[in-house]
Amino acid sequence: MSISYAIRPASPAAHLFHVTCRVERPDPEGQRFMLPAWIPGSYMIREFARNIVRISALAGNRRVALEKIDKHTWRAPPTTQIELAYEVYAWDLSVRAAHLDETHGFFNGTSVFLLPIGLEHEQCTVDVLPPAGARYRNWRVATALAPARGTRRLGFGTYVATNYDELIDCPVEMGDFDLGRFSVLDTPHEIVVTGRVPKLDMTRLTTDLATLCETQVKMFEPRSRRAPFDRYTFLTMALGDGYGGLEHRSSTALVTKREGLPFTGMSESTEAYRNFLGLASHEYFHAWNIKRVKPAAFVPYDLSRENHTRLLWAFEGFTSYYDDLLLTRAGLLSEPQYLTALAKTLTTVTQRSSRLKQSVADSSFDAWIKYYRQDENAPNSVVSYYQKGSLVGLALDLSIRAQTKGKRSLDDVMRLLWKQWKTAGADYHGVSEDQIALTVEQATGLSLAQDIDEWSAGTRDPDYEALFAPFGVNCARRPDVDAAHFALLGIKAAAAHAECKLTHVFDGSPAQAAGLSANDVLVALGGLRVTPSNLDTLLSRYATGDVIELVAFRRDELMRFEVKLATQPPVRFMLEVNQKSTRAARQLRHGWIGRARSASRRN
Ligand SMILES: [Zn+2]
Repeated sequence: MSISYAIRPASPAAHLFHVTCRVERPDPEGQRFMLPAWIPGSYMIREFARNIVRISALAGNRRVALEKIDKHTWRAPPTTQIELAYEVYAWDLSVRAAHLDETHGFFNGTSVFLLPIGLEHEQCTVDVLPPAGARYRNWRVATALAPARGTRRLGFGTYVATNYDELIDCPVEMGDFDLGRFSVLDTPHEIVVTGRVPKLDMTRLTTDLATLCETQVKMFEPRSRRAPFDRYTFLTMALGDGYGGLEHRSSTALVTKREGLPFTGMSESTEAYRNFLGLASHEYFHAWNIKRVKPAAFVPYDLSRENHTRLLWAFEGFTSYYDDLLLTRAGLLSEPQYLTALAKTLTTVTQRSSRLKQSVADSSFDAWIKYYRQDENAPNSVVSYYQKGSLVGLALDLSIRAQTKGKRSLDDVMRLLWKQWKTAGADYHGVSEDQIALTVEQATGLSLAQDIDEWSAGTRDPDYEALFAPFGVNCARRPDVDAAHFALLGIKAAAAHAECKLTHVFDGSPAQAAGLSANDVLVALGGLRVTPSNLDTLLSRYATGDVIELVAFRRDELMRFEVKLATQPPVRFMLEVNQKSTRAARQLRHGWIGRARSASRRN
């Protein structure tokens, strides 16, 4: 093998991995090595090279000088063979980077493996070595990387990647973790849980995941029922609080709060558990939609800089649309639970004026500088290509189903995109900017190009009431009066050192008209002291149209504001099945979300 890596948790207490990268036939001009600036799936420049603490190079037994030529690239002198040795600081407890302490180690290849430039297509090996010391003797290794001959699955030893892209697409977890195994239509799956979860109900977890995964495989491959990988691994980190995931071709890395996992004796399906299953569903769906079928701009990824695509609304948005929908079809969410979740997304998107200023295509393109770098003005300026994109998926699906009387759906579009990937093989060039509308037409016979364009490249809202009507679902808009500070003032606030601090001020809101800003600290309302917990109580004495005095600190300057409370509270969406729906409406609805259930399988 011309490229071989070794990685060792050299100092868990200092959070340091020790890594070597040996190249047998380096570039005769002087081999260059680069660490990626970002990790695919998370569209932000993260400059992982900043975590390389020290680095040196050997040619044979001779130490040679490395030249650093930009923020993440080094050049070795011309040699016939070269080995780099470096330390990586790993103290980022997220799915995007690397983390190491005495309880476990986790890394993505983008954080730890230098790429020998020009050799990205070469096969490589990785020796995953254990930390030294008896306390680590129960540690195992979980990864989608293939073990080399002589290495046991879940063991320390040598693993193989067909190229650099595969190497960095297989995160590695090591530790004394919980492991659950299950089979999905004859494909082995496993879930690894790191972190303390008392009385984890692994049987329930693997049973529910198996049902969910089977529903997805059958959606993409109704005939062959074959998964696109030989095995699949859910790497899960359980914390007191946290939520997030990152997709890979044959695995995913997840972070969940402990309450998101089932425990023995938990009879009801809790909202936290449904959220965890939604996350697992989302990342699993990505195995087809973005890890294989992908935007043309990602074929191949350029790991040194931003990769702009205007299509994240289809890849992230449609995946978000399907995550809960497929949980519902799998019987893990009830029909009312699904409609409640959908109504929440409609409410969140519609309450933000950002949807009228930025299209989801523009939001996709600018993900690097806007969606991933949100500030206090984000609700006024950045539309989520996840949430609004999922609503575009919903609008498309409902349009197709209604116009074809249930014979076609967005599922057919996803399957055709999938078929295009399978047919293209090594010639796959990705999905071009105009290909979604074309594929919709090919898969359904409907020309929805204008709607798609206005919903994605433009900012037109779909006509939700009209879209739901043929499905026997009533879509109502009611005044959102639950949170008085939001309804009457148009702000979001948070507790900060026992003070009530404004985090967001919405465009066009009474608070903005009066001159209040994000980061102002509210001191008094109507002559009474404001605390983080009593703001809504104080406001509840007032009605729309009243004028009140608010006193706040901006930095250390005390300021007074006269606020005229909103006359029109923002709207909240409600979705309910019309109990008198016609048989045709019921059939359309069942085709869309599955057979009606009054409650999920376990309530
Ligand atoms: Zn996603």
